[in-house]
Amino acid sequence: MDGIYQVRGYDMSNITFVRGDTGWIVFDPLMTVECSRAAKELVEKHFGKLPVKAVLYSHSHVDHYGGVRGIVDENEDVPIIAPEGFEEHAVSENVYAGAAMGRRAAYQYGTLLDPGPEGRLSIGIGMGQSVGTISYLSPTMNITHTGQKLTIDGVEMEFQLTPGTEAPAEMNTWFPQKKALWMAENCTGTLHNLYTLRGAEVRDANK
Ligand SMILES: [Zn+2]
Repeated sequence: MDGIYQVRGYDMSNITFVRGDTGWIVFDPLMTVECSRAAKELVEKHFGKLPVKAVLYSHSHVDHYGGVRGIVDENEDVPIIAPEGFEEHAVSENVYAGAAMGRRAAYQYGTLLDPGPEGRLSIGIGMGQSVGTISYLSPTMNITHTGQKLTIDGVEMEFQLTPGTEAPAEMNTWFPQKKALWMAENCTGTLHNLYTLRGAEVRDANK
């Protein structure tokens, strides 16, 4: 809808740009810097260059934050907002378990296979696994409870924490002015993994 734009097919996940009064609020900056930078350039080509006013991470999976430095630089004073427990889970899943999981992910996604003449098959939730540069910036603010509200650059947001669902730290965002709901991977058109082949933390189907 007007003011909310998504770049799809540039990475495994989607990146969302919400237009504020003076700039963009960016949701889930993809998995690698190259992909998020390309997505930002696409948005700038169509809507002009505007400053980034905030970045939000929906959850602790790397394809939802690893491209953050393609969107903002660490020296920029841009708020980065994430659900409570985000950093602890991002580190435990992608650093402590990262080497083992990365190796198994290569088998799960077939990243080392040469693409055929027509490219690769998709990987269910997206077009393919990123092989670029993964980056990280720590959240500057946590969402700590359901019903918490924030207004950034004129955009009203209300949050619902959904820990232990698709990721150990996750949240949904409601935009009352636009009657829009952003659920990241709490809602996908695929059968959700409960236990991934790469060995991500087991998910509770009941939740
Ligand atoms: Zn996820």
